[in-house]
Amino acid sequence: MKAIQVLDKAFVPFITASEIDRKIQEIADRINKAYSDKNPLFIAVLNGSFMFASDLFKKITIPAQISFIKLASYKGTTSTGNVITAIGLDESLKDRHIILLEDIIDTGKTLSEFLPQLWNQAPASLKIAALLTKPEALRHEVHADYTGFEIENRFVLGYGLDYDGYGRNLPELYQLKP
Ligand code: 5GP
Ligand code: MG
Repeated sequence: MKAIQVLDKAFVPFITASEIDRKIQEIADRINKAYSDKNPLFIAVLNGSFMFASDLFKKITIPAQISFIKLASYKGTTSTGNVITAIGLDESLKDRHIILLEDIIDTGKTLSEFLPQLWNQAPASLKIAALLTKPEALRHEVHADYTGFEIENRFVLGYGLDYDGYGRNLPELYQLKP
């Protein structure tokens, strides 16, 4: 792996494909154990989590379902600012064991606003699996139950994560060059 250029920015190698694969296997092992009799419903948050969701779900060996959503943010009419809604969530969550799949938790803002809407549907349980978290950037009460890598507060690219739409196809993770 060597440094790459995407649009106007330089990125350096950060986490290899085999390290990612190993970590995802660990998460899958834990979920396979904890959910063996729970028929979990995975919900992957697009776009960024598509690769993580695909690789993780291939390693799930228990009965399970998966669905994909997009979060749309629009200006609310109240003073609270943006309202976040899910597009494409057709399944009923009632009494289901939900595992939300996210590419990265940065400030936690997106999930802190969206999670209450999922709880409103009365799932039996709701856990979060995030490939990446940035503990130093966290500003909201969001906690990942399954975390791939805790990383420093610097922009990352690849493995589903983009810079201005590019770089999602990279099989490994890159970090903005300091
Ligand atoms: P949050 O609401 O937690 O601050 O941000 C969540 C979203 O911001 C992520 O789902 C992701 O789309 C985007 N994001 C946050 N940090 C990064 C990063 O380092 N790289 C990329 N490509 N996207 C990021
Ligand atoms: Mg995202």
